[in-house]
Amino acid sequence: LFSLKAFVTLATTDSYSKGAVVVAKSLRRHGTTRSIVVMVTPNVSNTSRAVLSEVFDEVIVVDLLDSEDFLRLSLLGRPDLGVTFTKIHCWTLVHYSKCVFLDADTLVLSNVDALFEREEFSAAPDPGWPDCFNSGVFVFRPSLHTHAQLVQHANQHGSFDGGDQGLLNSFFSSWAVEDLSKHLPFVYNLSASTVYSYLPAFKQFGHKAKIVHFLGSTKPWNSSADSSSQTMGRYVDMWWTEYHSHTTSSAS
Ligand code: UDP
Ligand code: MN
Repeated sequence: LFSLKAFVTLATTDSYSKGAVVVAKSLRRHGTTRSIVVMVTPNVSNTSRAVLSEVFDEVIVVDLLDSEDFLRLSLLGRPDLGVTFTKIHCWTLVHYSKCVFLDADTLVLSNVDALFEREEFSAAPDPGWPDCFNSGVFVFRPSLHTHAQLVQHANQHGSFDGGDQGLLNSFFSSWAVEDLSKHLPFVYNLSASTVYSYLPAFKQFGHKAKIVHFLGSTKPWNSSADSSSQTMGRYVDMWWTEYHSHTTSSAS
């Protein structure tokens, strides 16, 4: 039977919309056969929405959800990330049977449609605490029931880091110990910090990278390539090339 599957990203601002455009363009460059969807919040400008609608199959407006957990967010050093709670609205996209969420600060380097063979909840380890998953790339099944449970969990317990990653890690807490097939290879969520923290591994395996994640407060859209290390600089260059590229419009 035909079942719809989609890549999903999120932009709550015009800046993050720039990142989202690159997510879509890089997925298309590598020939995805799946739909590509972006969730935006009401404050995203009409100009940004128009640009997004050229590269995405669907632009879906969702409510802004903010943890407003200033204490934990300051511990994380990212006071801006309370709004990442909005991410959990991706579970409401029930016209799709399975989805892959990609942060707006990711860049796809090869075809990653194989991710749809994975089950909920699959994600790659977080480089800062590998018993937690990083919530920048994950496989999930839209479900209004799961969505309601996540909202309830957020209201009752908040998030240990003030953002979506703490919330999702508490909710899917068996991820670390249960099922290795739900551990995505690190090459599906290669973060910049790895290049510095374990350079030999990067030299050995870096060429296999499938998705690069510009995790941290410096994003490609507010940095130029020559301000970073040579290796990440190359990825920032690639990000800008993708940003300026012309692409065939959405599949629909
Ligand atoms: N995001 C957003 N607006 C914001 C902050 C975050 O739309 O002001 C979304 C965006 O999709 C982003 C994701 O939430 O990629 C997670 O935030 P970010 O990537 O900045 O966190 P990091 O990966 O650096 O921890
Ligand atoms: Mn990110």
